[in-house]
Amino acid sequence: MIIRKAFKFRLNTNGVIEADLYQYAGNCRWLWNKALRMNLHRLENKQPLLWYGELDWFSKLWKKSDEHGFLKLSPAQTLQQTLKQLERAFKDAFDKKQPLKRIPTFRKRGDRDSFTFPQGFKIEGRRIFLPKIGWVNFRKSRNIEGTPKNVTVSRQGKHWFVSVQVELAIAEPVHPSTSIVGGDVGVKRLVTLSDGRYFKPVDVTFWQEKIKCLQKRLARMVKFSNNWRKLKARITRLHTKIANIRLDTLHKVSTALSNSHAMIVLEDLQIKNMTKSAKGDVNNPGNKVRQKSGLNRVILEQGWGMFRTFLEYKQHWLGGQVLYVDPKYTSQSCPHCGHTSKANRQSQAEFVCVRCGHQEHADVAGARNILERGHRLLACGEIEVAQLFEAGTGRLSDKPEPVLV
Ligand SMILES: [Zn+2]
Repeated sequence: MIIRKAFKFRLNTNGVIEADLYQYAGNCRWLWNKALRMNLHRLENKQPLLWYGELDWFSKLWKKSDEHGFLKLSPAQTLQQTLKQLERAFKDAFDKKQPLKRIPTFRKRGDRDSFTFPQGFKIEGRRIFLPKIGWVNFRKSRNIEGTPKNVTVSRQGKHWFVSVQVELAIAEPVHPSTSIVGGDVGVKRLVTLSDGRYFKPVDVTFWQEKIKCLQKRLARMVKFSNNWRKLKARITRLHTKIANIRLDTLHKVSTALSNSHAMIVLEDLQIKNMTKSAKGDVNNPGNKVRQKSGLNRVILEQGWGMFRTFLEYKQHWLGGQVLYVDPKYTSQSCPHCGHTSKANRQSQAEFVCVRCGHQEHADVAGARNILERGHRLLACGEIEVAQLFEAGTGRLSDKPEPVLV
């Protein structure tokens, strides 16, 4: 299995080298902002976005101009790489699987000073060759394993660093566990497992209340006044905080799940469709993106899409798997006798089978159904579980008892 990994070292720079590094980072920042401004303008006017090819063409024009001729000083590939990063940022912003990604923002002076060389660099012992800069020594704190694919030069405080991204072949991992579990992803509980355990969703009500409070105060203020700006910045920071808390929880839950089960069965929900109206797609960004995301807030908040992505790559690293099954009727079928009816679902939280009387938390019942479909999928390959249930009474014959591990 091939993985990507980064090794970061501090560069031993001097004034002459640093002057170049500042210039190159500054040029990349200028180009990023210039291209971003063009695309934001196009978004506002509902014109298609400019992608790498077009932006690179503009960049070459600017290079030739007297006004922006300073771009010529930069290694060409660092500028191209900046435009590729911008393209990626815009694509991510419209990717429904990454609901927390927002439209890219302007880079400020001194903020995220960095540039990337996709090629043309050489590493020999404790020194690295960077195009247009030459050989620079670095503090080699560890050996670099794998094949270097690109290097990024960045600044933190007054020091400059080089990060070498490598591709590394590692042995195919074998998951430490052999168990399989079904998971019902929901609103009240983030994930409910077929063994009855569950993970709570992220509780950010405290911070949300705080934001509401501040927003009320903001509304009473003189727009664009100094205090208004300050408060607005504070609200933005709180939003970032909430996003980080959510991300953290999704990481913790997905790591815990991935560590304990080799196979995780989930419903194949088309999250894409659920959030479609808000985000639109790359070529046709949704109108009023902000307002509409408010409507789909609950779904986005849970970050289901991200949760799946995290689980998938964590399972991939560990040698496990995520299996998706048909979600039809998982909430209405009895995990005990298979009877499927709307009446089984007495309330949001309670499942009582009208045929056999089996009683369970509705989310656990759902998770057990999901697990069972996972077993069937593994045993018989592709089957249309939905078809078996189509009649509404569809009792699954010869089904194996769900193995709860
Ligand atoms: Zn039943």
